[in-house]
Amino acid sequence: MIRVGVNGYGTIGRRVADAVRKQSDMELVGVVKARPDYRARSAVEKGIGIYAVDMKGLEAFKAGGIGVKGTVNDLLQRVDVVVDATPEDTGATYKPAYEQANVRAIFQGGEEHSLTGVSFVAQVNFNEGVNKKMVRVVSCNTTGLCRTLNAIDSSAGIARARAVLARRAADPDEVGKGPIDAIVLDPATVPSHHGPDVQTVLHGLNIVTMAIKVPTTHMHLHSLIVTLKRPSTKEQLLDTFAKTPRLMLVEAKSGVKSTAHVMDMAREMGRPRNDIYEAVVWKDSVSVVDGEAHMFLGVHQEAIVVPENIDAIRAVTGTSSRDDSMRMTDAALGIAHR
Ligand code: NAD
Repeated sequence: MIRVGVNGYGTIGRRVADAVRKQSDMELVGVVKARPDYRARSAVEKGIGIYAVDMKGLEAFKAGGIGVKGTVNDLLQRVDVVVDATPEDTGATYKPAYEQANVRAIFQGGEEHSLTGVSFVAQVNFNEGVNKKMVRVVSCNTTGLCRTLNAIDSSAGIARARAVLARRAADPDEVGKGPIDAIVLDPATVPSHHGPDVQTVLHGLNIVTMAIKVPTTHMHLHSLIVTLKRPSTKEQLLDTFAKTPRLMLVEAKSGVKSTAHVMDMAREMGRPRNDIYEAVVWKDSVSVVDGEAHMFLGVHQEAIVVPENIDAIRAVTGTSSRDDSMRMTDAALGIAHR
């Protein structure tokens, strides 16, 4: 059993912790929680061990009547791998502690690529993470782009890719960021950071991205335009997508006309927390005109990186091949495996 700890129990950390508990080759030793709030109580009810950030945090948990098993440093002594799901740029401050405890570490997309030197999307570059001390799972948008572009590249080759990203303004519980009534240039300069981030995984890909923020809390939506190297048809691309792992085809003509409908579909599927782990491609939008492929791509920001974190744990511990790991992860999370 791979002993896993999760540092940071927010949007991503809670999902990764639950996903770890579903793997037959992993044990969740505990999670690091900053505050004794309702999420901490819910974790305790699930039987998850709680660790405080520091001694001050430990006292706050005691005062809040929630039992803790120690601090983050105690947790690091008890695990093989830590998944760092702390806020953007906070992960980097923990790197020395992870090194000192001699644990392998998985960071998230809010950290710089240079922190680990390896940015990870399982189906694209699993082997780059094998037996590494530290790996960074890329952000939600980069994960969606990498899965989709890698599929197109393997089928028709990519001369260049261009994407305009409409990003959710905040996660559902980030009430401090709203309410808002604007479309925000994010940033006004081109390219946005997403294109260079894709290149940390799909090395050498010609890609430029632009991004805006829109007043919604669930999902990002990309308009993707790809110049193909080889002649291809819409049917060939759809066939490739249908065979691509962790990519879901939806149809507006079947009623999935918006991100809200994707979330509603997740509820109907009985997915935990309404999570869509797959990159979502609208079948109706896929077209090829003058050697250019076009499509709409949806990304459920809270969920898409969860399977990647699980595969990254197996990669850094060298315990499974890419295909075995993806098969186990998909089975445990209820993702249709291809
Ligand atoms: P979050 O704010 O929801 O959760 C972070 C948690 O860490 C919070 O519970 C916070 O209290 C806790 N925390 C704060 N300081 C801490 C510390 N010093 N030690 C331990 N815990 C601490 O953040 P998130 O959205 O889960 O993001 C985590 C990482 O995942 C970031 O790198 C982010 O860029 C990345 N990411 C986020 C999303 C998303 O859409 N939310 C998607 C993909 C990747």
